[in-house]
Amino acid sequence: MKTKIEFVELTSASFGSDVYLIAHTEYMVNREIKFMLKPKSEKFSLERNGQTIYVNQNGKDVQEFTATVGQFSKENPNIDNAKEYENYAITRIKLSPSNFEKKQSYKEFLAKNKKVLLFLKIDAEPIDIKWYEVIYENIFKNRPKLWYYGSENWFELKDNANNSSNNQNESSNENSNPQSNLNEYRIYSDGRIEKIIYDKENKLNKYKYVYYDASNVRYEICEAVRNITKEKKNGIVYKSKPTHQRVEYDKKVNEGSTIRRVKYVNGDIAEYGSHPTKGLIWRLYKSTNKDIEVVRMPDFLSYKKGEIVVNYKFTKTKRRYTGADTFAGFIGALVECRISLFTTGSCFKEASCFPSAEHVNGKSVDTLYKWKINYDQKIIDGMNKYHFRKILVGSGRYFKSLKRCSNGGRLHNSHLHSGNFDKSKVKIIKKY
Ligand SMILES: [Zn+2]
Repeated sequence: MKTKIEFVELTSASFGSDVYLIAHTEYMVNREIKFMLKPKSEKFSLERNGQTIYVNQNGKDVQEFTATVGQFSKENPNIDNAKEYENYAITRIKLSPSNFEKKQSYKEFLAKNKKVLLFLKIDAEPIDIKWYEVIYENIFKNRPKLWYYGSENWFELKDNANNSSNNQNESSNENSNPQSNLNEYRIYSDGRIEKIIYDKENKLNKYKYVYYDASNVRYEICEAVRNITKEKKNGIVYKSKPTHQRVEYDKKVNEGSTIRRVKYVNGDIAEYGSHPTKGLIWRLYKSTNKDIEVVRMPDFLSYKKGEIVVNYKFTKTKRRYTGADTFAGFIGALVECRISLFTTGSCFKEASCFPSAEHVNGKSVDTLYKWKINYDQKIIDGMNKYHFRKILVGSGRYFKSLKRCSNGGRLHNSHLHSGNFDKSKVKIIKKY
């Protein structure tokens, strides 16, 4: 029998549950990756002063646990898609120590405080040489639950007496929102999108994205962390660095094609780097001074439940943010076309989008073609249905028979541009 394994992100888990922890790496096969779960630094938490918490790996209580890149693939040859995980360090841990006293003290703390915020520290350094350290990755469980961690997005370890959210994916009651204060986008199979606001302030600073099929069954696809920034106008090309305003910072970056970013005191952003057809250029993205919301797209989605599939991966980009509304449209289009896509991204954290002009505010998303006419047409149709208003394809022969899109010139021979997401199609529903 053939089996396929998929991991789905979690944003929280109960004390004592088993979860998989995964680090996606490059060029690190056979290297050992170290993981630590640390509580947000507070006066008193599970451990004092931001000390690493104890978890249980392979029957041992450990503060630091490890996984070797590629081992999961080697050890599971019977899993059909094991090869996909060759560059991943994967381990399973129990979110609780087995030591009685330790466990008791964690339990008591959680019973009193309901949850603790954690972050994951990943260390990929060789023993005793600190050459590489990151404080970011994702944690997963191989059941449809979500747990996402980013530097601005804590992972919640919850008191296990409070298990109400454990079966949230099974829920088909459209009014149930187990994490009652988490604002959410509801994406319906008929193309409608609703933004449900439970908390006006959005204190959790993120959104949940939920899909409803034609029978109104609820599928919790993922969560995404929000960033509030200033709305930007489309980028304008400059031959040299714009000097129209006082500079707040000017720094070298390494974000896809962008190698330098200047922020001006009025909120404008200028970016410099290599454009696929124009060569080395500057682009100035002027701020309108209006606040907008962008979200950090999960590093990838690999969601499958019944007929509902949402699948994308990033490629060659650091433009990992998109409009909070746009992301709902993107998910709707992905469910609609049932095709896994590579995306070359949308916008940066401050809503700029070098080398593109028209991805500002995350209003557009680029994806790679499938090079099969009926597949590419399905993607275009999905994007149309979910309110992308400017869909651009290339100018080569291949594109001639595609419908409901326009010729975007040779720049788009390499990627489909689904742009100008129509925010007016998102119905805002206040529940506070
Ligand atoms: Zn584009």
